[in-house]
Formats: sequence, structure tokens, C-alpha cells
Amino acid sequence: MLTAASAITGLIVPTGMAFAQAAPAASPPAQAGNAGHYRFRVGDISATVLSDGLIGGPPRVYASDAPEAELQEVLRHAFLSTDRLTLNLNTLLIETNGRRILLEAGAGQTMGPQGGRIFQNLAAIGLRPEDIDVVIVSHTHPDHVGNLRTADGAKAFPRATIFAPRADWDFFVRNDPDLSYMPVPVDFRRNFAAAIKRSVEPVTNGIELYEAGAEIVPGLTTLPAFGHTPGMANFLVHSGNDQLLLTADLAYHPIVNVDRPWLPGPDRDKDTALASRRRIFDMAAADRLLVLGFHYPFPGLGRMLRTDAGYAWVPVNWQF
Ligand SMILES: [Zn+2]
Repeated sequence: MLTAASAITGLIVPTGMAFAQAAPAASPPAQAGNAGHYRFRVGDISATVLSDGLIGGPPRVYASDAPEAELQEVLRHAFLSTDRLTLNLNTLLIETNGRRILLEAGAGQTMGPQGGRIFQNLAAIGLRPEDIDVVIVSHTHPDHVGNLRTADGAKAFPRATIFAPRADWDFFVRNDPDLSYMPVPVDFRRNFAAAIKRSVEPVTNGIELYEAGAEIVPGLTTLPAFGHTPGMANFLVHSGNDQLLLTADLAYHPIVNVDRPWLPGPDRDKDTALASRRRIFDMAAADRLLVLGFHYPFPGLGRMLRTDAGYAWVPVNWQF
């Protein structure tokens, strides 16, 4: 595990501390800083954003078609680094009908040392990994499945049934994927592919493969959002008149992929991904849906606004 993680870390996390703290997922410093969990409700459903921490990389990776000067200017105007774009890992726990369902597993240590905080954030709300009944991932990239495996190779959520999209499982897990479409060095691609297989290995027996469009549990519908990966889904959590849309990796950071229309480099099929993004963002804007962006600044909640030029991201106010 460290081999792949080291190489990936070397690329995207320019810090010398990378593996000084390659420790089990539960060990990042305890609650020294701010809260990494955020509670709210969707009708009768209790929802909690649980941060798994951060990943990041060169802005160019996440805005593959941006003119360089314009990209730099947009980042500077947002007071962001022009060298490295930081992305959050906003997993969501929903509690409904006596079941605890985790949407996205998070990265763990697969994409650098700043992931893996989900376990301490679970503990902060009084839960242990064995309290999770179901984990559903939108797609099988390492930052969404990394925490499925403990450091010693066991199931990290020992009681949970794991759901993954069938088309992603076929592409990334059952086969050796051709990742030449990703705008990253060949070592990164190889380690990325290996991190996926290693992360899901403990849960391969008993994996539940779903087709996007299925309602996996009452109150949680999956929506096709193909393109970023062959099977990526979005999630619609609904109860009564309340709805919450989880857009997975339709966009990485609202500054470059919502407020600007730039295309994420890791999208496998850029045309299909763009069509999915427009269809779902248009729905979010038209229906004024509450949206959770997996990689947006924590807690990742806001709404999509339709503008003359495209879209704008409007974060919601923090609720106490
Ligand atoms: Zn992601």
C-alpha cells in the first residue's frame, strides 16, 4: 500500500512530511482543530457530512482545458494557490429507518497523508466503523473507496454491505484499465489503478453491484452521471418535500468547474461527462436543490445558480 501511496503522494502532495506519518487511518491528530462533521436534516432523514480530510494536486489536472493565464488569474482572484488546488473529501452519513448509510468511503491514505480522517470524525459523533450498515460509492476512484480497507488489509467497516456501480467494477476492478486518458505521469496512473484494486480487495466477496438509476434504500436514489468514469452515479436523498443531491465528481472545485466551465482532466469520456454535468446541474438549478459537492470546500453544501455564462456555486449558510 505504501508503494503506491508514496508515488502518488510524491506527485501531488509536495511536502516532506508525506510518510513520516503513514499511520493507520484513525491516528491523525485528535480534535485539535475545527469540527470535521456537519449535521443537518433532509426531511425525516438525519444527515451528517463527515470529512475524510483533503487531497489535492496541480490545478491543471482539474481544469484540463483552461487557458493557462486565465486559470492563474481565476485562482489568484479566489485567493487560491496557483501551484496546488486543495480538494475536500465530504462523505455523507445518512440515518434512516434504523440504518446508517455512508455515501462515499473517502480516500484514506491512498492519495496522500491528509486523508483518512473519517474514523476520528465518526468517533466525534459517537460512532464506530462497525456501526455502519451500508456503504455506497458513486464510483471506484481511490479517493472514494480508499477507506474500505484497514492498514492491515481487513474490512474497515466490518458489518457493512458495500455497493459500487457495476460498470466501474468491470472497468477498474475486474480488468486492467487503460488510464492513458488521465493527464498525469504513467507512474501515477499505475499506482492509481493499483490503489483501487487494493482498497476494494477486502470487500470483493459480498460486493453489491448496482446500476445507476436504482433506488438502493428507500429515500436514496442513484442517478446516472456517466463520463467521469464508466459507471459514476449521483445520489438523490429524499424525504417528504426535502431533497439533497450529491454530485460526486461532476466537478472538483466550484471555482474552476462550476463558476468556470473547465473540464476535469480525469474525466474518461469528456463529452459524456459534460452532458451529465449539464443535465444534472440544470436540474439542480431548476429545482433549487440543496447540493453536496464531494470535493467542494467543507461541508460542501450549496446550490447551483444558472447564469448567462453557465453556472455559479452559492454556498449555504452554516447552521448551528
Ligand atoms: Zn473524487
